[in-house]
Amino acid sequence: MDSPRYFDYASTTPVDPVVLESMMPYFSEVFGNAGSGQHYFGWQAHDAVEQARKQIATYFNAHSSQVLFTSGATESNNLAIIGFLAKLTPAHVITSSIEHKAVLEVFKHLETLGWEVTYLKPTAQGEISLDIVREAILPGQTKLISLMWVNNELGTINPIHPIADLCVKHGIVFHTDATQAIGKLAIHQGSLPDLISFSGHKIYSPKGIGGLIIKKGIQLHAQLLGGGQERNMRSGTLAVQQIVALGTSFLRLPVYLAQMDRLKIFQKSIEHRLTTHFLGKLQLNGNTLNRVPHIINITLMDVDWENMFRVMPKIAISNGSACNARKQLASHVLMALGHREANALSTLRISLSHLTTEADINFLEEYLIEKIGLMYSA
Ligand code: PMP
Repeated sequence: MDSPRYFDYASTTPVDPVVLESMMPYFSEVFGNAGSGQHYFGWQAHDAVEQARKQIATYFNAHSSQVLFTSGATESNNLAIIGFLAKLTPAHVITSSIEHKAVLEVFKHLETLGWEVTYLKPTAQGEISLDIVREAILPGQTKLISLMWVNNELGTINPIHPIADLCVKHGIVFHTDATQAIGKLAIHQGSLPDLISFSGHKIYSPKGIGGLIIKKGIQLHAQLLGGGQERNMRSGTLAVQQIVALGTSFLRLPVYLAQMDRLKIFQKSIEHRLTTHFLGKLQLNGNTLNRVPHIINITLMDVDWENMFRVMPKIAISNGSACNARKQLASHVLMALGHREANALSTLRISLSHLTTEADINFLEEYLIEKIGLMYSA
């Protein structure tokens, strides 16, 4: 069988060849420890890290000292939220019920420490509106709000800039998980949150590297203790080659962003072809007027989902939710939008990239029409 075509870029991306080339020297030529301040090998590694830090800071209009390297968005989210709240007396915090598990599980943990957590309910289209946030704030009590910029299953965009302004007004620290927004949206058109998490492997860097942008004046309590790297907030020898890769990915973001209009056309085409072919049987999830162009989320109403992915071996798509070897779990995001469990399970998430071609889309559309057709006639 030809290798399957990949339509799961929201899950992870291949390493960009330009990124790969930039990181190669840092495996065995420039291999020093960035913390070895006594010799040339260490200085070279340190310079490479600082250059990457600057590349990333520039993207956020921030100072280099505001960029902290982690192993990925999961760690960034944990560090941002727990690291900020660690020494505070438990009070009130806000998040939403459609966050990634790397945020939701952190808030569940906070509950066990005595924090009162409000889990905001999204609109039926999967957004957290400014009004929903405003109404949940308990003046003087709410210490932190964490809301994702773009939902990883639906692609819907939250109004992060006005929420950032609202938080400033109330003196609340605002964290966003921007993992699915970076490289898909121009993020600079307003106030930025105090803490911004992101991950390398969603933007064509390798897995195992991510970062956190920290507003000046905020000190996070380290969750990893050791040599005191990253201004005492995250100990551990820096992964120089990964960091160099991440810096290059940020330089490359305009290249990826420039393709978004093309992806929007693909997104519309797939949705139009499928919904007109299977009239009344499919439901598009999310807000089609307010989302990133590379994510499509479609529920196949009332089909048998058990074998859904097994009958489509030539394409790699997901249903956006966690699964283990035995049991597919219904997406907590779709359940929060009010789907029945069976329909949440019979949902497809298709995600595209600047690497996606017109031939890929033609293939995908024909293949889905054939396979979904078989499911409905079974
Ligand atoms: N947040 C969001 C919104 C994500 O999509 C992901 C990856 N699926 C993560 C966090 C976790 O990122 P990482 O794999 O870098 O830990």
